[in-house]
Amino acid sequence: MKNIEAVLPLLQEPKKIFITTHHKPDGDAMGSTLGLYHYLVQKGHQPVVVSPSEVPDFLAWMPGINTVLNFESEPRQCQKELDQADLIFCLDFNRLDRVKSFTEQLGAALQPRILIDHHLHPDAAVFAYGMSDPDKSSTCEMIYDFIRIDGGAELINNDIAACLYTGVMTDTGSFRFPATTASVHEMLADLKHRGLEHAIIHQHIYDSWSAERMRFLGYVLYEKMEIFPEQHAGIIALSLADMQQFRIATGDTEGMVNYPLSIEGINTAVLLTEKKEEVRMSFRSKGDIDVSTFAAANFNGGGHFNAAGGRSTESLADTLQRLKKLLGIPVK
Ligand code: 5GP
Ligand code: MN
Repeated sequence: MKNIEAVLPLLQEPKKIFITTHHKPDGDAMGSTLGLYHYLVQKGHQPVVVSPSEVPDFLAWMPGINTVLNFESEPRQCQKELDQADLIFCLDFNRLDRVKSFTEQLGAALQPRILIDHHLHPDAAVFAYGMSDPDKSSTCEMIYDFIRIDGGAELINNDIAACLYTGVMTDTGSFRFPATTASVHEMLADLKHRGLEHAIIHQHIYDSWSAERMRFLGYVLYEKMEIFPEQHAGIIALSLADMQQFRIATGDTEGMVNYPLSIEGINTAVLLTEKKEEVRMSFRSKGDIDVSTFAAANFNGGGHFNAAGGRSTESLADTLQRLKKLLGIPVK
């Protein structure tokens, strides 16, 4: 993987550019892809953002979101865009299989793949160029860095600022996690100088719940959250039946995994969500507890030191049992 600076000469002439991100995109995934999209449009390129799966409703307000293609529902159109592209940007993921629905097609593409990402252990061999830095708060922060390296700071408009702010805000838990460095705050100050309206973004993301979702959270915290003070752990396991009862949509469990960490003494939290084909797992921790290695070693996952994901093909009950054993929680 060559240094990102080597990409800059390739952007001197107008190009067709395919931009993608991980399956089940979050705020940082859509913020970084759309932030780069708006920047490249201004530079005279023809970019297109392709998501491997549906974009969640809480991001529907984002500038440019209506141009995003979904590989799962529009595979032909997306394949055409991939075939015609001169360059492929891969944002906010570290291994090709994180795009899930089109891993093979992305791997078979002959155009240079360019990585911009902050997850641990990138598969550098499959990228021609890139920047990978696990100390960065978010991929959005890295897109901001990239724009400045490219000498394009003056092109940062309201749309770019809103997109980049979204990813930094969501990936830092609203600027509270340790990765919120002085450079992050300097970036935010610069975006403000360039016209960023931040309050409306907080409203879009955090004040857009349905009443059902709020009641579901109440139910989950009251009925489903297990706290294990001795192991400093909290676990929430949600079955398909739980989700159906409250008519819960994709994205409605977003952020729930963090609640146990607000309890004094709890420094590891796990959310298990039963899906038709597997159990999805989200891991969060505080301080020196490495959930990325834990998820990789036990649940076919990975991510960041304090925030990771994984999966299990065992039943929800068996997965829960195995998780508890691994955390040293006595099981009956
Ligand atoms: P979440 O729990 O929000 O789905 O994921 C937490 C973090 O871990 C995100 O940054 C996400 O991209 C990453 N992540 C989730 N699942 C996986 C996985 O299976 N492998 C890797 N490498 N990262 C993951
Ligand atoms: Mn991210």
